Amino acid sequence: MSANQGYSNPPSQKKVLVSEYTWPLCIWELSYLSFSMFLWYRLIQETVALHQGPLPVLLAFIIAQLFVDFLSGTLHWAADTWGKIETPIFGSTIIKNFRTHHIEPQDITLHSFA
Ligand SMILES: [Zn+2]
Repeated sequence: MSANQGYSNPPSQKKVLVSEYTWPLCIWELSYLSFSMFLWYRLIQETVALHQGPLPVLLAFIIAQLFVDFLSGTLHWAADTWGKIETPIFGSTIIKNFRTHHIEPQDITLHSFA
């Protein structure tokens, strides 16, 4: 099975989308991951500080997971729907990479963080 099977994007678009992993993208991803880890830490810290046992922590975790899934799905849809690769700031970082995975699903696993 070829990497393009099931996708309508022509090979020329694949060449444009699948390219080098740039430092701005690396910084963007590390910033996002760091901020996400900070938010998880704060959620757990604040929930544990309530001294109400494990149930609030578990409920907060589940609600936060659903909320984050909704937000990330909305961001994914927006990046797949609006803008172009040439769009300032978001084009080369978010839009390009969200669209790349439709053409080359394994691309995200083929690069390092640096
Ligand atoms: Zn997508």
